[in-house]
Amino acid sequence: MLAVTDRSITRKMITETPVGRAVAERFVAGDTLESAIAVTRVLNASGMRVSLDHLGEHVSRIREAEAARDSYLACLGEIARNDLDANISIKLTQLGMGIDNGVAARNLDEIASAALGAGTTVTIDMEESGYTQTTLDLYVGAQSTYGNLGVAVQSYLFRTAADLDRVVPLGGHIRLCKGAYAEPKAVAYQTREEVDASFDRLGALLMETPGVKPAIASHDDTRLAKILASSKHRSEPWEFQMLYGIRRDRQAELVAMGHEMRIYVPYGEAWYPYLTRRMAERPPNLLFFMRALIGG
Ligand SMILES: Cc1cc2nc3c(=O)[nH]c(=O)nc-3n(C[C@H](O)[C@H](O)[C@H](O)COP(=O)(O)OP(=O)(O)OC[C@H]3O[C@@H](n4cnc5c(N)ncnc54)[C@H](O)[C@@H]3O)c2cc1C
Repeated sequence: MLAVTDRSITRKMITETPVGRAVAERFVAGDTLESAIAVTRVLNASGMRVSLDHLGEHVSRIREAEAARDSYLACLGEIARNDLDANISIKLTQLGMGIDNGVAARNLDEIASAALGAGTTVTIDMEESGYTQTTLDLYVGAQSTYGNLGVAVQSYLFRTAADLDRVVPLGGHIRLCKGAYAEPKAVAYQTREEVDASFDRLGALLMETPGVKPAIASHDDTRLAKILASSKHRSEPWEFQMLYGIRRDRQAELVAMGHEMRIYVPYGEAWYPYLTRRMAERPPNLLFFMRALIGG
């Protein structure tokens, strides 16, 4: 599925038609920071926290990385000004990782420091496995200095249990997800059963570990049930995380049960790679798009 959506013809069809944009609106708050703030207000009013993601990844110029940093600084300013219950999620390849890791580290420093000033936190998304090591190195550096960060880990990677040994002692929050990229069998589990079993093992480990805040990022009921069972023995804070527009009924249900829920809200014009990962996770999303295209 990711191979198909990578083709330029598919990209054109999706980004340059009104139907494509309509499908994107199901998963993306809008093109602007204002639209993201408006969505955040609504979610906060229904008892949900938010993590704002200004869409973008893999920049090729330092100038673009600096523009991404500035957009996050503006976002943090708005979070503080509007007194929102929100943090930010960032991708380090958007801040220069891969072209100049020193620039990425400096951009990360500025963002973490501004987030401290705004009274909030920063979550570093995890990207393709070629970036895992550098992402964790940059996380460890920034978290040791500022103490208000967290990082995502992916249950499909063989290395994740060992990575937790390194990052858990730094406190912070750890977002556990299954992983959204196509990874080779040399580094990652390939079957759903293996990825799920790894998720359950890592989830149980995080839930029984003090001094760290587990952020359980999944829409999978079987995974959620196991976490809910282990939460009975946890006295320290933890939260669920789900994506904007996915399983809204379940999000509301968990909040009504008294659980902390943070909604990952992407915004901005660079929504195509994000949208294609959501389509790949669930082929009916692509069918929904194709049907709308033919019908329109
Ligand atoms: C808050 C959050 C942050 C994330 N951050 C990262 C990250 O940093 N790095 C990374 O690699 N991945 C990230 N992911 C994505 C994650 O790795 C999975 O690809 C994604 O969450 C799908 O897995 P699942 O656990 O929901 O289970 P699945 O088994 O894929 O889905 C379970 C059920 O949820 C519903 N569902 C799931 N996905 C969709 C969808 N796209 N559209 C409609 N319904 C759907 C369906 O009902 C499905 O049956 C994040 C996910 C969340 C929720």
